[in-house]
Amino acid sequence: MSRYWSAVVHGLTPYVPGEQPKLDDLVKLNTNEHPYGPSPKALEAIRAATSDALRLYPDPNADALKAALAKRHGLQTKQIFVGNGSDEVLAHTFMALLKQDRPLWFPDITYSFYPVYCGLYGIEQRTIPLADDFSIKVEDYLPQGSERPGAIIFANPNAPTGRLLPLQAVERIVAANQDGVVVVDEAYVDFGGESAISLIDRYPNLLVVHTFSKSRSLAGLRVGFAAGHADLIDALERVKDSFNSYPLDRLAIAGAVASVEDEAFFQESCNKVIATRETLVKEMQALGFEVLPSAANFIFARHPERDGAELTAELRKRAIIVRHFKAPRIDQFMRITIGTDAQCALLVGALKDILGQ
Ligand code: PMP
Repeated sequence: MSRYWSAVVHGLTPYVPGEQPKLDDLVKLNTNEHPYGPSPKALEAIRAATSDALRLYPDPNADALKAALAKRHGLQTKQIFVGNGSDEVLAHTFMALLKQDRPLWFPDITYSFYPVYCGLYGIEQRTIPLADDFSIKVEDYLPQGSERPGAIIFANPNAPTGRLLPLQAVERIVAANQDGVVVVDEAYVDFGGESAISLIDRYPNLLVVHTFSKSRSLAGLRVGFAAGHADLIDALERVKDSFNSYPLDRLAIAGAVASVEDEAFFQESCNKVIATRETLVKEMQALGFEVLPSAANFIFARHPERDGAELTAELRKRAIIVRHFKAPRIDQFMRITIGTDAQCALLVGALKDILGQ
């Protein structure tokens, strides 16, 4: 620790690069990347953008990408904000919209960056326990008397559980909290959820955040976006301009636009992952695992008689990496990214070996 650090830095934990090991020939099922590559049209667009034009700054507003996203989602460009991965979009959201007089409400088991951003931006938080079946209880997010949130954020499908809150339930939360912003982080929605983007024109307090890292298989390009009322987007743009006027580089803009325009590839590659997930769920259940219902590109599973950390370590010895969270209530679980059919077969084979089946 340095005596020169500001107080807020002492509370921050550096990212552990262990989740991104620099080893080939690992079956990497730990950070929810897509097992198949991005659209060939996106790759072609990135290659085409690799030109002398790279000496020029990119478009600070990424208008081409906003136009492509607006067209696909039936919105106006002023309703879209783009950033360097949805983590950056979320960081700007926390700073611009979620620091209010009352606490920010979010589930106790959710994406680990939410409490980190609260710490970074000095936002008071209130964590709300998930139900016994690890679903979000809508009733807990409806304000009662003086108990009102300053704002709300949740991931849907939730991470790391994979559980989906139906769109009607999301709408109940948004409708009941119209004096505060409700952020729905839909990083995994394309693998079986119904997006709340369809509600945006009715609810000026709703912000929906998406990423290109999962369903578009472009984690390496770092692109994410938020969709919402123009007033919310304006707040995000102001924060962005104060940090870095150029969050997306020329290659990212070109690749992301081409990806959005290749709808057929997008649908097909998501469907492949969903089909593999359904097979894997059945195979894991046959091995005795309890698997939470998943609408994401990962599953959350536990074996009634085995420790999650120990199973994760045993898999690691067999060159398969999955994610374990050392946290109350979910200690027994493993979060497993849906890989290719061949990778999932290796996983199931390894688990059989470990369980002696
Ligand atoms: N939200 C959730 C729920 C996530 O799991 C992730 C990925 N770890 C992100 C946002 C951030 O994704 P990215 O920055 O790659 O867009």
